[in-house]
Amino acid sequence: MKNKEVDSLLRFIDSSPTPYHAVANIRKDLRKQDAIELKEDENWSCEAGKTYFVIRKDSSIISFEIPAKGITENSGFNIVAAHTDSPCLKLKPLARKSVGNYQQWGVEIYGGVLLNSWLDRDLCLSGRVSYMNDGELQHKLISIDNKFFRVPQLAIHLDREVNKGLVLNAETHMVPVLGLDSKEDLNDEILRELKVKGLKANDLKSLDLFFHDAAESTYGGLKDEFIYAPRLDNLAMAHASCVAQEKAKPSEKVSVVALFDHEEVGSESAQGAGSNFLSSTLERIGLCFKKEREDFLQMLSRSFLISADMAHAFHPNYTDRHDSEHRPLINKGPVIKTNARQRYATDSKTFARFAVYCDQAEVPYQVFAGRNDIPCGSTVGPIVSTRLGIDTLDVGNPQLSMHSIREMAGSKDHKMMIKAFSEMFKE
Ligand SMILES: [Zn+2]
Repeated sequence: MKNKEVDSLLRFIDSSPTPYHAVANIRKDLRKQDAIELKEDENWSCEAGKTYFVIRKDSSIISFEIPAKGITENSGFNIVAAHTDSPCLKLKPLARKSVGNYQQWGVEIYGGVLLNSWLDRDLCLSGRVSYMNDGELQHKLISIDNKFFRVPQLAIHLDREVNKGLVLNAETHMVPVLGLDSKEDLNDEILRELKVKGLKANDLKSLDLFFHDAAESTYGGLKDEFIYAPRLDNLAMAHASCVAQEKAKPSEKVSVVALFDHEEVGSESAQGAGSNFLSSTLERIGLCFKKEREDFLQMLSRSFLISADMAHAFHPNYTDRHDSEHRPLINKGPVIKTNARQRYATDSKTFARFAVYCDQAEVPYQVFAGRNDIPCGSTVGPIVSTRLGIDTLDVGNPQLSMHSIREMAGSKDHKMMIKAFSEMFKE
């Protein structure tokens, strides 16, 4: 069941260990497609039939394609929103003193990490470094992917009760070991990685670095029916939305892909889904075509938002965690997510609209509603629809091991989601 869509997804995930790298890779792809980069601090001018993109703070990106006939009185925005960040261990600002003869560096837990999955894995370290060079403050993405670090688990002999339930203290038990005491430390490795001549340790001003799994993504299962990879939540949906946008030519609506950082920590930041990034971008698209605020507000009411975030597949070893009628299965198609308490933004009209897209694309779809005794997660959907008042639907592909360092999904579902998104982007 190998296919080129998943091959491309796995390459994207492996080269995108952090939201910064994900955005840099999407930017590279967009430029290959002749998309034009716009800056928030410059005047914008947009033309019919062209694709543009704008990046905020290096970790959120919005791309949009204007229909060939420009913006007409029936135009609105057809949007897929997803997130670029995933739960992980983030380096704290200052190094630790050595413990015994171990070199360590403390971490903050970013998002809802399945802590146990990070034990005894080979870890790399990537992100953004700020440094002074020639009297100027500069910023660069780095990836230390040829040195491996580790959070070693305690031996069973020193914790005989461990298999009754592992308890991990997020502050004391999750500190990665970087090496043994020596004259060189992590700063020296970072300096080497920056590849800037003459730079010294005190030129390093600030680090925004994240640990991540060193192992490559792969297909899995007897028939390659699975994908095993980190950050499927939510790089899989980020990738699917970009591929669909590239494929489908919009006829009347502006097609928009909005990928936000900080979903896993609540979306309330300048580049998060709770910010003005999407609304100001959409309004500025209208302004390029001499649309007044009145026109923009009308365009919003003709718009549609798909909030795309991975969904929980039915787990064969925990069959009681889904109700028996709402059990999404791997490789059985996109999952429409509903929740009466509005943790998902789907309503019956948006549900029906997406079901029609799936029918048109000849793709099956599934439905998720949680158990009343298990609180469910949320997505950028309710946040963006609350801010903008756009008709919104929550959808995602089924996966297991969500928020583990190594997740698992289906190799057929990815293409089906791309097809469903493309139906919307064609409008
Ligand atoms: Zn997610």
